[in-house]
Amino acid sequence: MSNDRTEDDLIQRIAAKRDEVVVLTQELIRIPTLNPPGDAYEACARLLGDRLARRGFDVEYVRAQGAPGDSDSHPRVNVVARHPGQGQGPCVHFNGHIDVVEVGSGWTVDPFGGEVRDGKVYGRGACDMKGGIASSVIAAEALLESGQPLQGPIEISGTVDEESGGYAGVGYLAERGYFSAPRVQHVIIPEPLGVDRICLGHRGVWWAEVETKGRIAHGSMPFLGDSAISHMTAFLHLLDTELQPRLRQRKTAEPVEPEGARWSTLNVNSVHGGQPEQRYLRDAMGRPQGDLPTPVVAHACKAVLDRRFIAEESLDAVKQEIVDMLDELKRTRPGFDYRVEEIMSFVPTATPKDAPVVLATAKAIARVLGREPQTIASPGTYDQKHIVRTGKLRDCIAYGPGILDLAHQPDEYVGIDELVASAQVMALAVRDLQKPR
Ligand SMILES: [Zn+2]
Repeated sequence: MSNDRTEDDLIQRIAAKRDEVVVLTQELIRIPTLNPPGDAYEACARLLGDRLARRGFDVEYVRAQGAPGDSDSHPRVNVVARHPGQGQGPCVHFNGHIDVVEVGSGWTVDPFGGEVRDGKVYGRGACDMKGGIASSVIAAEALLESGQPLQGPIEISGTVDEESGGYAGVGYLAERGYFSAPRVQHVIIPEPLGVDRICLGHRGVWWAEVETKGRIAHGSMPFLGDSAISHMTAFLHLLDTELQPRLRQRKTAEPVEPEGARWSTLNVNSVHGGQPEQRYLRDAMGRPQGDLPTPVVAHACKAVLDRRFIAEESLDAVKQEIVDMLDELKRTRPGFDYRVEEIMSFVPTATPKDAPVVLATAKAIARVLGREPQTIASPGTYDQKHIVRTGKLRDCIAYGPGILDLAHQPDEYVGIDELVASAQVMALAVRDLQKPR
């Protein structure tokens, strides 16, 4: 068959699997893999592993022993399936996270029902990213059934904890060589970026905890102490009045979507000062019950900062800018003292626009959808950070069905047309990447 004919055959083969991709998406949604705490990971990993084993994949279950979150009640079980293929071509790996975020309120459908309505599959994780996993499985199966030899290995992994940093998932596997050459050459992560968009990477992130110190005293005589909350307020005020306006001047040349995220951003994730949060109840007489506060001046206050930075900024400069502000307060504000501690950081990543996986996916999008793809970058990080930093693999993109804005929202859904189209794109991209050259 000519190249065009085999591509047409693949496209039609996947179109005929429309019901199959819906059913697999539903099956995945119906396993409530909530993170936290990390429910039902093993059941979901086994659903994928059992299915792929029946199609000739070698299946491995990798529990992230000792990784953050792993316990006997909530084992962090990842699945990695590999089909050797028939040729000497490069390995293409599809990686999807199986965890989903909490349900939240506002749903009009069962979040774990997998209901199909008006051409959409509904449920928590429908777009982020069980639909994408289903599309990649269907793409791989269509390639194997096509009668054309698979010119290299194909891998599919279902990994845990992406929503909480991926340390027990892709991070754990990357440390053990699962995302490095010579095992793997190209990685596609089917996050819900849209069927005609290729995500090259993401902004950087610096999470840090800042603590201001005070001196404890009786709350009725605050002048005898020194309030850490008051010091924190001074710091937060500086962030608002000095740092935020500066960040709004810094725009990246990278195609981050949505456009608002092309500027550097800072979010104060949480503030906790003084006594731990207390819960009061009232009895029938209206008297307060339970843990009542005792009068003290706060001797410590902590804030967690979530600073997202652009490719044009360095991580060192991002940190130094905050430290400089704290030092400035230390010089000018009597009694001010602080501690700052990094929680985690990742520098921005961007796969080159002419990397093979980008070119192959772009060509496949043009072929399947008849339009040119948009290349974008993500405001937040995802598992690509581990693949690039630990796996040292640059040939990695995110590409998958669904609308990013719907991720983590009530009534999350994925369009069935998109499930099919993205599976077609994935299959053509594998063919192209493994084509003997
Ligand atoms: Zn996701």
